[in-house]
Amino acid sequence: MKEKVEVYDLEKVVEEFERLTKDAENVQKETLKKILEENASSEYLQSLGLNGRTDLESFKGCVPLVIYKDLETYIDRMVDGDVSPILTGKPITTFSISSGTSQGKRKYLPWSDEFFAISLQVYKTSFAYRNREFPIQNGKGLNFIYSSKSSQTENGVTLATATTNLFTNPGYNHMMEALQIPNCSPDDVTFSPDFQQTLYCHLLCGLLFREEVQLVSSTFAHSIVNAFRTFEQIWEELVTDIKEGVLSSRITHPSIRTAMSKLLKPNPELANLIHKKCSGLSNWYGLIPELFPNAKYVLGIMTGAMEPYMKKLRHYAGEVPLLTSDYGASEGWIGSNLNPKVAPEFATYAILPQIAYFEFIPFAQIDGTEVELEPVGLTDVKIGEEYELVMTNPAGLYRYRLGDVVKVMGFHNSTPEIRFLRRNNLMLTINIDKNSEADLQLSVETASELLAKEKIEVIDYTSYIDLSKQPGHYVIFWEINGEASDEVLGECCSCLDKTFADIGYVGSRRAKAIEALELRVVRRGTFMKILEHYVGLGASVSQFKTPRCVAPTNTTVLQMLLENVVKNCFSSAYN
Ligand code: AMP
Repeated sequence: MKEKVEVYDLEKVVEEFERLTKDAENVQKETLKKILEENASSEYLQSLGLNGRTDLESFKGCVPLVIYKDLETYIDRMVDGDVSPILTGKPITTFSISSGTSQGKRKYLPWSDEFFAISLQVYKTSFAYRNREFPIQNGKGLNFIYSSKSSQTENGVTLATATTNLFTNPGYNHMMEALQIPNCSPDDVTFSPDFQQTLYCHLLCGLLFREEVQLVSSTFAHSIVNAFRTFEQIWEELVTDIKEGVLSSRITHPSIRTAMSKLLKPNPELANLIHKKCSGLSNWYGLIPELFPNAKYVLGIMTGAMEPYMKKLRHYAGEVPLLTSDYGASEGWIGSNLNPKVAPEFATYAILPQIAYFEFIPFAQIDGTEVELEPVGLTDVKIGEEYELVMTNPAGLYRYRLGDVVKVMGFHNSTPEIRFLRRNNLMLTINIDKNSEADLQLSVETASELLAKEKIEVIDYTSYIDLSKQPGHYVIFWEINGEASDEVLGECCSCLDKTFADIGYVGSRRAKAIEALELRVVRRGTFMKILEHYVGLGASVSQFKTPRCVAPTNTTVLQMLLENVVKNCFSSAYN
């Protein structure tokens, strides 16, 4: 018989978090002390001369700020199976592979049982606060989660993405049951190696349990949009499966077929109902509540690189609220959303002071140049200021610069509530121009409003610096869902160009040191092919973020884009 899972006491979770955040400064000191004590014997801390000291002053004096590259030689040895205490006291035998879609390079990050325990705290905390505003009881979650390829080296080291390490942990399903939102889909569906088959069956399971679905979620919002865009294409096939009780022949994986055959029985009544609902929708507006009448909210990371998908998500969700979930990375967790009623565009994340030791690098303008100042502690940050996040966590990262820039919007008790602003990387630059991912996002958002007038949307986008002719120019690739006229595309292109407001770019454009921006429209499905390419390399659909700038060295993706161009035009701004 299945073991009965004890439901979490969510009020206690809230009480505990309130207690911790009221004493954030001490909790941070204790957290740092514990991390340094447990890892005092590590080669890394020993080599820095910390000698078992755990006070803040010694820590800051001995341990430098680092980026991944600084730790790479240590991590490579661990991945090669060296179980001596290198970065941590206890050996680490599981690593999360960060796909590198956001930062260009694949990274291996230590994963441990403690990491899972922290994930549990983050999930519980945000669920507890969310549940006060949007209670869920005895429902099911339609969770568009996917596992990626996982492998074991000959030395017994496991390599998988962070979400795969999380979802495959035996404690994960236990947690979902204790939160009373078990997944609709059986594990055999979630853990299939073919994400298209998983997606099809997630949708089918959702429809079979449509009355019970109280939550529609994914890790990043992109996966939810992707799921319902796919639904638009395949819904009739799903309806046939339900009507006949026979799974489509497109599902070839034996374990998925076995798992689904246990759920699927001929149900013409349900099939007719779904057919009627889908046929009655105008342009799929409000699809989610039509299919899942008891869905209380749609949940996923919706900030930062996910913002471009919000419009479409809102379209599918109709009146169902959109809630952004947590803030974290393969490196470690950072914060939870405690104010679920706030729209994702304005959402903040409260930092959990007990999960890592956090520092914040302030920026200042000196003589018109941005300079970095000394990092400050969690409770010393100032409202309205921007900082780069630095973390020290139990997984063996010490004073690690995450590369994310956040803005402090307020405090929850004494822990900061931050807004994600951008990654601190320069993306588009030819000479003195400096444009980040956020600048590109703004430019695309502004220009796509011109397309929206024609009822056409930008499905996805990326960019590239073309230096094949001098002077070089920016190329923006768009996948759009309709036929835009040359005139409208030309306007969009000039608008993209004009919206890059950085003075280096504007000056270079005026001086013709950068040529006119080029817009290239790619064939429908190109960005899906790019996703499939990354998944083939071991990335997880759950963590996928479209690369927003393609390096010339990324020849495969560049080739995919170039081969699929159907139209191009040049900006006439600055003529
Ligand atoms: P990955 O390790 O591939 O999962 O990517 C982690 C990165 O995703 C973070 O460093 C952030 O740049 C971004 N990210 C994660 N959570 C959020 C969030 N809630 N809002 C905005 N960006 C996020």
